Amino acid sequence: MEGGKDKMIATKEDLLNLSPLGVKGTLISEEEIMRWFGLLDASWVHSGNPKDPHAELTSGYCSNGFFDCLRVLKYVKLSHILAHQLKLRLETAMGKSELLKIKYTIGSPMAAITFAHDVAWEAEIPENMFLEKDPANPKKMLWKRIAIPEGYPVLQIEELITTSHTTNEVERAMREGNPCPINFVPYIGAIVHRPPKMVGGYGGREVIALISKEVWAVPPEECPLCKQGSKKLRPKTNWKELTGKN
Ligand SMILES: [Zn+2]
Repeated sequence: MEGGKDKMIATKEDLLNLSPLGVKGTLISEEEIMRWFGLLDASWVHSGNPKDPHAELTSGYCSNGFFDCLRVLKYVKLSHILAHQLKLRLETAMGKSELLKIKYTIGSPMAAITFAHDVAWEAEIPENMFLEKDPANPKKMLWKRIAIPEGYPVLQIEELITTSHTTNEVERAMREGNPCPINFVPYIGAIVHRPPKMVGGYGGREVIALISKEVWAVPPEECPLCKQGSKKLRPKTNWKELTGKN
C-alpha cells in the first residue's frame, strides 16, 4: 500500500467492505493479496510438519499447497479490485499505449470467465469472450461462438496457472477454432501463478501474476509427505481439516 496511509486489511469483514474506488490506482503488494486469500480460506500452504495433512489434487497428485480463486472471485468487489491490480501490473510490463491497443480479453472456463470480463472493464479493453470445455473431453477446450478478426491483439487471462496445460490448450483451441490467425500479445494475465518450478512464461508469452509461488505436485508414489506418514486430503471437501481451521 502507499506509504503514509497504510491500510492493511485485518479481518474478513474489512476485506469484504473494501471499496474498489478507494484503492483505485494504489498498487497493493503480493504479500497483502496473499493475506486476503488467507482471510477467505482461499489458499493454504503445508507447514512442513509431516503430522499435518497435505493436499490431494483433482489430478490425483499430492501437493504442498492449494489455491481456490473462486473463494475470492465470488465477491464482485474483490474481483474488480484484483482485476484493477492486474491492469496496473500489465500497464507496467507492456506500457500504457500497448495495453490500450488490446482488442480482446479471453478467459478460460470456469473461474477466469468473469475475471477476464473484469480485467477488460478495468483496462478499457473493448471486447471479452471465453472458451468452453469440450463436453466430449473436459480436458479439451472449444472456441466456436465468435470469430476474432485478423490482427486484433488478444490478451489471455487465467485465474490460476499451475502447469502449461490450460494455457497451451486455450491457445490451441483458439488457433484451431478461429477462421483466421490469432494475434496473442506476448503476455498472459493471471491472479495466481504457482508452478512447481518458477518459469517466466509459456510459449513465448510472459506471465504477469498477482501472486507467484512455487508449489510442487507429484504422483503419490513420489510424494515426500506421504512417505513421512502425512495424510492426504482432497482440499475442496476437507478444507477445515487440511488447514487446521475450525
Ligand atoms: Zn502425498
